[in-house]
Amino acid sequence: MNGKNWMIVWLAAGMAALPRGVLAWGPEGHAVVGDLAAGLLTPDAKRQVKSILGNKRLGDYEVSSWPDEIRGAQEYEKRYPGNGRWHFVEFNVSEKYDEDFELKLPGDGHDIVTQVGRWQKELAAKGNRMPRRRDALKFLVHFTADLHQPLHCAYRYGDMGGNMIPVHSFQGRNYRISAEDAPEHLPDLHSVWDECMVYELMAGRSRPAFAKALQEGIGGEQLRRWSQGPPFDWATDSYWRARKQAYRWANGENLPFKWARPGMDLTSENYIDARLPLVQEQLQKAGVRLARLLNEALDPDYAPPAVGESALPPDGGKAPAAGGG
Ligand SMILES: [Zn+2]
Repeated sequence: MNGKNWMIVWLAAGMAALPRGVLAWGPEGHAVVGDLAAGLLTPDAKRQVKSILGNKRLGDYEVSSWPDEIRGAQEYEKRYPGNGRWHFVEFNVSEKYDEDFELKLPGDGHDIVTQVGRWQKELAAKGNRMPRRRDALKFLVHFTADLHQPLHCAYRYGDMGGNMIPVHSFQGRNYRISAEDAPEHLPDLHSVWDECMVYELMAGRSRPAFAKALQEGIGGEQLRRWSQGPPFDWATDSYWRARKQAYRWANGENLPFKWARPGMDLTSENYIDARLPLVQEQLQKAGVRLARLLNEALDPDYAPPAVGESALPPDGGKAPAAGGG
């Protein structure tokens, strides 16, 4: 398929109507995480969400992708200063894994981990009125999903989570449209994870069918295990997934650091098929964890499902060994 036809496919998929996610799961990724969480709310939390959102749902683009839409808007920069940085945290993938290894937040609060915690508290705060409470809900829905896109919690040599690593083709399709394209609209490793990988996983299914399949794939043991821990641990997990998988070819070798175009050719064999299971699991985890955060904030009787001895992950939840990374 040539570039022009490929663009038509994007248009047909409704992508062009929305801002391209430069630092976010694409709209579909966010929507499906919202859909998953909606199915896991307690009746009390469901009622509260409805009272905040009216006839909108968690997965609707106006809710789940709203923080991407307001990025850079002056009005919102005034209301929520620094919000452009709340979509990610920069953990260094090339940091040596030795006894001094430690992942640290920047400390100024303008990172995704801090913001997930912050907006959960703001959502729970009874004193908060509209529209702040609604904004809190939308921030929480969006950032919890972004936190699970591995490249939102990692960078390598100043590449901004893969935003600087060009991709020339994906499944043989070169989707550069013309020579006049603005450079920020050319595909890169980050946007591949935000959008192309999600579309590949959807495989032509509608969003409700896709969400249903993801939901049915979540076992009781996964539900318990994924419901544990603080957002910092989830970000740490994302970081290791980026380091061990997103930044590597299927054969385990590191992706190139080259910033120059034309960039990489990603195929089923050399990258995509090996990474799709991770995309699926990250979306599922995000849905489960978003539901937990919402239930905690909105339902005083909620307690996360208890995790039994046997339900602990085999590695006790520790980071995978970092050999060679
Ligand atoms: Zn985002």
